[in-house]
Amino acid sequence: MKLSNWGNFPRIEADLKPFKSDWEKNWFEKSFISRGLGRSYGDASLYSRVLSMVDHSGVIDFDESGTLAVKAGTSLDEILKFIVPKGFFLPVTPGTKYVTIGGAIAADVHGKNHHKEGTISNFVSSLELFDGKEISPCSLELNPELFNWTCGGMGLTGVIQSVKLRLKKIETSLIRQNAIKAKDLESLLLAFDENQDWTYSVAWLDSLAKGKSFGRGILYLGEHAEKDEVKNGRDSIEMKKKFSLNIPFHLPGFILNPISNSLFNKAYFNLSSDKDFIDLDPFFYPLDRVKNWNRAYGSRGFVQYQFVIPENQGIKGVEKVILDLQKRGLSSFLTVLKKLGEGRGFLSFPIKGYTLALDFPARKKILKDLVEIDRVIHEMGGRVYLAKDARLESKYLSKGYERIDDFKQFIRGKRFESSLSKRLGIT
Ligand SMILES: Cc1cc2nc3c(=O)[nH]c(=O)nc-3n(C[C@H](O)[C@H](O)[C@H](O)COP(=O)(O)OP(=O)(O)OC[C@H]3O[C@@H](n4cnc5c(N)ncnc54)[C@H](O)[C@@H]3O)c2cc1C
Repeated sequence: MKLSNWGNFPRIEADLKPFKSDWEKNWFEKSFISRGLGRSYGDASLYSRVLSMVDHSGVIDFDESGTLAVKAGTSLDEILKFIVPKGFFLPVTPGTKYVTIGGAIAADVHGKNHHKEGTISNFVSSLELFDGKEISPCSLELNPELFNWTCGGMGLTGVIQSVKLRLKKIETSLIRQNAIKAKDLESLLLAFDENQDWTYSVAWLDSLAKGKSFGRGILYLGEHAEKDEVKNGRDSIEMKKKFSLNIPFHLPGFILNPISNSLFNKAYFNLSSDKDFIDLDPFFYPLDRVKNWNRAYGSRGFVQYQFVIPENQGIKGVEKVILDLQKRGLSSFLTVLKKLGEGRGFLSFPIKGYTLALDFPARKKILKDLVEIDRVIHEMGGRVYLAKDARLESKYLSKGYERIDDFKQFIRGKRFESSLSKRLGIT
């Protein structure tokens, strides 16, 4: 069957095997890659042989102090439905709840709270990992090397079977939100620094604005609301069902073009930005409200380009990349900026600095231009996020991820391989 991830690029022919707990031992003798819900954008969970983990789902155990044990194919959506009414939230969440917990740990995902709380692996008490022959438990205390490389290891150390996670206590299912409009890049980066005490922060950036509006944006801040700060009747604790739109088929690729993108960005900036309390869903997962929004890019698909540049490159560094994108006419419908905190090393993406995520149609000229941007980013000591990648060249991997040779050494002789690991020369 043809298989692709969220960007619908690349599409490859794959033999997809659903996970079963009674292992057919001989299937595991040849190399393969595990797959969750395919929400990595590029080719991280693609290969000729793929093990789908989505049927291996469900809660194994929960204790009132906030520790949850789940099977690795459980989606964050299922987890939230279970934990929010009990007064808990995910300690770290990506911008979609339609990922599996196994996929989230394999990418060691970060969220809007990275500057304060780090990546999801900080909250994993232990994992069970299948190495193709047997299942081994691992944690920071037990098999720490295996644990550390597995978190962020993009499925290349083994198949995560189950996860024990420490949850975050909440009193309501509301977020106290504040939105700050910043007239240019300098004000936007300053707003991040002035508001670093907020638990959640992320900015929408108008990457197309020029002149004195260059780099303008809106910084969104949030805190879990406590019971006594919200009016009676709004202090319930539940994942509310929301109306959602659906894009039923691939739209023609030309719908998202520099003109429509620029109009959208202007209109978005001029929307009002009041302080308010909002539900968990619209705060954490605004894109999930449009089902299949990836089809807006047409059947040829798109790439999400997410990179981070070190903090010491400052405003000049961010400015340089945006100017370079503008010069090449690379226009993104949506651009997200986040200031990341300290990284944890190993293969996890975050390092202390500025990360930008932009979407581009997967077209030859654009892919070629992005190689030039890769060069600029790597000269600054930055790196590209593997969970979003479909196109990076291997020379930039080794520049960006300084421990990649240790990782290669660690997984030598294992049988896990993906289109991403082959393309980047990791396996
Ligand atoms: C709209 C959107 C917003 C996003 N926002 C963020 C964000 O804010 N922060 C962030 O960090 N990421 C973000 N992502 C990326 C996403 O969180 C990651 O790509 C995540 O890994 C996807 O999980 P999945 O279950 O879909 O796994 P897949 O996409 O199927 O696989 C991803 C990787 O995990 C591995 N894997 C999957 N299951 C297992 C398993 N059981 N054992 C071992 N390896 C496994 C795969 O081999 C692959 O390498 C976003 C993605 C989308 C589509």
